[in-house]
Amino acid sequence: MSTSVLFMNDQFIPREHGSISVDTHSFIFGTACLEGIRGYWNEKAQQIYLFRVQEHFERLMYSCKVLHMTLPYTIDDLMAITVELVKKNNLKEDIYVYVIVYKSKQSLNIQLHEIPNGLIINTMPMADYINTTGLQCGVSSWRRIDDNTIPARAKISGGYVNSAIARSEALQNGFDEAILLNNEGHVAEGSAENIFLIFKGELVTPSITENILPGITRDTLIKIASQELGYSTIQRQVDRTELYTADEIFLCGTAAQIAPVVSVDRRIVGNGQIGPIVKKLREVYSTIVRGNHSSYREKWCTPIYASS
Ligand code: PMP
Repeated sequence: MSTSVLFMNDQFIPREHGSISVDTHSFIFGTACLEGIRGYWNEKAQQIYLFRVQEHFERLMYSCKVLHMTLPYTIDDLMAITVELVKKNNLKEDIYVYVIVYKSKQSLNIQLHEIPNGLIINTMPMADYINTTGLQCGVSSWRRIDDNTIPARAKISGGYVNSAIARSEALQNGFDEAILLNNEGHVAEGSAENIFLIFKGELVTPSITENILPGITRDTLIKIASQELGYSTIQRQVDRTELYTADEIFLCGTAAQIAPVVSVDRRIVGNGQIGPIVKKLREVYSTIVRGNHSSYREKWCTPIYASS
């Protein structure tokens, strides 16, 4: 790990001092929530742009609310700390920032209220997270966690056991990624990605009430598909067999970016190649996230370094 500084307990500290006790509540019970934010290096501008950092912190606040957590920071404070952290690490490449709010007390009381919270912000270099040349996916035998069990709408650490159990099953069965159905048997999402299907030039994605994480990439793509490419998106219930009949499918997320799916349960999607609409979306997405699209730069891209 090449970064040297992280933010913990209200201060920037050397990475090697960033540790928690084995008795920490969140370590034992999974009582933490998190965010993953990407920063894109723009060689020409000699700049890193954090992508939609404000929306990530807004979602973190919603997750905190679900877990009875409050922080002594505003969203603006958190954005400023994150920018400072990346600067202190002097990173000049594509990066990932992860933010964790956790029940920090050494306690075996299984409850959320009246247990203090800690905050860690950490950063590291990150290139591709997932194969982006065409995923072979399998529908998982595991169901997505329900809003009345562990809400998928919040990005809760303990909820990632659901993702991990499904992804391991998929990988061990020879697939690249799992697609999870919700308890009603409708398509929810990938292990750490939202999903889009394309039928005759129209994008379809499960609505946010289908036990999915309301992804920031999902929101970005709904907007840019319409504004930049003229494709509308329908948010609705999606049946499993639609995964077998779609013209194109892709997964998307901050880490995964846009990952085309070429087969589901050994049924070929479209003609088995990366589809034309996915290709166009990827092009415009990568232009926007790297700060090369003037209409979105100010709104969505937060620069780290002062411009020369
Ligand atoms: N669903 C899950 C379960 C995830 O973990 C992620 C990654 N954060 C996503 C969807 C995509 O969300 P985003 O685009 O905000 O990264």
